[in-house]
Amino acid sequence: MISTEELLDTIRGEVLLGEPMKEHTALRIGGYADFYVDPLDRDDLCRALSLFELRNLPYTLIGRGTNLLVHDDGIRGAVIATSRALGEYTIKKNIVTAGAGVPLAVLAEKTFSLSLGGMEMLQGVPGTVGGAIAMNAGAYGQEIAGVVSWVEVFENGRPRVVPVEGIEFGYRYSSLGGCVILGSGMKLGKLSAAEHDKRDRLRREAFRERASSQPLSRPNAGSIFRNPRPEENPSGLGAGQMIDACGLKGARSGGAMISREHANIIINTGEARAADVVELICLAKEHVRKMFGVTLELEIKLFGYEKILC
Ligand SMILES: Cc1cc2nc3c(=O)[nH]c(=O)nc-3n(C[C@H](O)[C@H](O)[C@H](O)COP(=O)(O)OP(=O)(O)OC[C@H]3O[C@@H](n4cnc5c(N)ncnc54)[C@H](O)[C@@H]3O)c2cc1C
Repeated sequence: MISTEELLDTIRGEVLLGEPMKEHTALRIGGYADFYVDPLDRDDLCRALSLFELRNLPYTLIGRGTNLLVHDDGIRGAVIATSRALGEYTIKKNIVTAGAGVPLAVLAEKTFSLSLGGMEMLQGVPGTVGGAIAMNAGAYGQEIAGVVSWVEVFENGRPRVVPVEGIEFGYRYSSLGGCVILGSGMKLGKLSAAEHDKRDRLRREAFRERASSQPLSRPNAGSIFRNPRPEENPSGLGAGQMIDACGLKGARSGGAMISREHANIIINTGEARAADVVELICLAKEHVRKMFGVTLELEIKLFGYEKILC
């Protein structure tokens, strides 16, 4: 085990004991993490990781918490934040080098303003570079996988660079999902003025579409379910369309509600608990299974759960 003194002696950044995870998730839900560690910089973060591995303390990386459901009983072990420690980036010509904690939206906007294309449609994805690589985040025809050249991971006590050829990416999947991602190199394309204008129009359309179809002002974690694989889904409908067809928009459990704007999103109307969200997840799965014969799979990541039984 690890003593609080040892943690405070080793880590120069902030170490919070019994930190409520609802302060760190977009859903504003989640019980206490034993330790919430916000390292000062990259070295500090690597030192924390080495210590946890040496002492066998379970830990989990968190970016901006925009794709998470944290159990009401919280998380045992440490949660390590990346935003501060890994929050730097540089852009040289068309090559971007970014720490895992850099907000994707910042990078997408900055690169596009420099007429670099390849991640402009990801501006509406509210997570970090690390979260995006772990999940292969994507939107409106672009995925982070499309620009990644290499990823730096922390493994066996030291950083290691993995070239893109060594990474498997799929729909909301990356083979680096279980790794600690420190940062990434990305190669973008130089845009002509005409191409920039064209993409700018598409980007603005996407913003408008997102604003009109998603409950952006209410706490939520984006899409709850993955869209089913076409071969398992004769209806051809997306997860949200199937849930909508089951008449579940507006369904409530405690403080959680299936969004009226987008049926694949669950919002926290105020004091929702993770258990309320799980009720709605199971309700949606049950109805979709009955009506379409399709078993929906979660896109959001569960922290503090072994698994959800429904
Ligand atoms: C309003 C809204 C809209 C969204 N729209 C989209 C969308 O269009 N497309 C889309 O793909 N997603 C979307 N999402 C989901 C989410 O923003 C993305 O999945 C994002 O990439 C998650 O990044 P994060 O930093 O918040 O990760 P977190 O939620 O903090 O973590 C997600 C997972 O990544 C892991 N992780 C985070 N950082 C690291 C790291 N450095 N190393 C290793 N693992 C790490 C975590 O352990 C966890 O398993 C949306 C979410 C919201 C709230």
